[in-house]
Amino acid sequence: MSKVRVRFAPSPTGSTHIGTARTALFNWLYARKTGGAFVLRIEDTDKERNTQAALDELLSGLKWLGMNWDEGPEVGGDYGPYFQSQRGDFYKEYLQKLLDAGRAYEQDGAIFFKLEGERYTEYDDYHKAEIEKVRAEPVVIDDLIRGKVTRREERDFVIVRSNGDPSFHFVNVVDDIAMEITHVLRGEDHLSNTSKHVELFKAFGVKPPVYAHMPMILKDPKLGKGKMSKRDRGALIEEYQQRDFLPEAVVNFIALLGWSPKDDQEVLSIEELIERFEVSDLQKAGARFDEKKMSHINFEHMKRLPIERYLAPAKSALSKAGLIDDATDDAYLTQVLTLCQEKINSFEDLPAFSAYFFTEAYSVDEKTDKKMRKRADAGERLGEAIPALEALPEWRADSIESALQGLADEKELKVFAWFPLLRFGVSGVGGGPDLLPMLETLGQKKVVARLKKFQASL
Ligand code: GLU
Repeated sequence: MSKVRVRFAPSPTGSTHIGTARTALFNWLYARKTGGAFVLRIEDTDKERNTQAALDELLSGLKWLGMNWDEGPEVGGDYGPYFQSQRGDFYKEYLQKLLDAGRAYEQDGAIFFKLEGERYTEYDDYHKAEIEKVRAEPVVIDDLIRGKVTRREERDFVIVRSNGDPSFHFVNVVDDIAMEITHVLRGEDHLSNTSKHVELFKAFGVKPPVYAHMPMILKDPKLGKGKMSKRDRGALIEEYQQRDFLPEAVVNFIALLGWSPKDDQEVLSIEELIERFEVSDLQKAGARFDEKKMSHINFEHMKRLPIERYLAPAKSALSKAGLIDDATDDAYLTQVLTLCQEKINSFEDLPAFSAYFFTEAYSVDEKTDKKMRKRADAGERLGEAIPALEALPEWRADSIESALQGLADEKELKVFAWFPLLRFGVSGVGGGPDLLPMLETLGQKKVVARLKKFQASL
């Protein structure tokens, strides 16, 4: 088999939707899996709709997700993407081929592609006029996901608009020919264009690529019905960047929108995705967005992240929240983060979860506050624990534990008689990282001072 060559061919008209990122991803995974080439081609012939801002956002998103492309015009020693807006002369050559072969003609300033087949006229309700139609041969698309799809074109279609701009159908096919694209993986919304594209391939005497039309992404049932729109929460790549999601988690999650490995494993590294990805495992039915799953997958990737990689996004989230600055001790920060890593779903949850490690102005959970204050033994337990903790010559999780165990033995109680009170007294909440290492990390001074303050407020 000839080498696989796939392309991602976005039209940058607005923010990058996860559906667009998924198209890029499936093509990229397929190229990486097969040792083929992944071509990035910007379809920007519609000058009115394409914007620089949308392009910048798209490229930044691709880079963030780690989808590198393999070729393109050289820019400063690097590959730039191909831009259709820069390939005008090249399209003219291809247009000339169709004109020379009698497969294109001019009408009202535009250039039309001429279908082959018997012509007839028919009254058309939509146009409210007699229009010319063609009995063209049906086009059979052997789609990798949907099987055989038969469609028939009935009317000649525009390939160059009257303002001189080539149409999407024309440049899309010409570039797929010129770039020797072997497989086209794109959204199902393009299925209705594919018969036009196949007609153009036939006219150029080139075998069309293999097509795979991917299912639409549907809204999370909790957010409504139908196709996921750009306005739905979680729909834009930019949002994940801003919310400090891990790019490998976003890649993992997006890959599961319409695809799953045979054993249904959900948490997959990029290497595992490349290894397991098969176009034949793509589903036909709409792919449901699932916010909870997204957050679970992010959590699983966050748990697995080596602390060195955890540090930068964590710092960014904490400094955005004003909890740390350049003076914050890295060793302390690393200790805190090691405790939090096991527990939180995303970096955006980190500031609220860990504020009490960095400030005295942390918030107090009202419900837990009430519960603790209701305890008849609160004062007595704190009265026992504070001096025991204060007297400790060495401040380590295990020595704290022995001190509390000592108290428990003495009072014939379980250590859990103290744990919730201590946790709440130093953090203002009822849950969090494991208590003993948390106390160790906070340090003896802070722990004792906070507990005394709590005791005094009872
Ligand atoms: N520019 C088209 C789009 O963004 C590309 C379609 C294709 O992949 O062929 O939808």
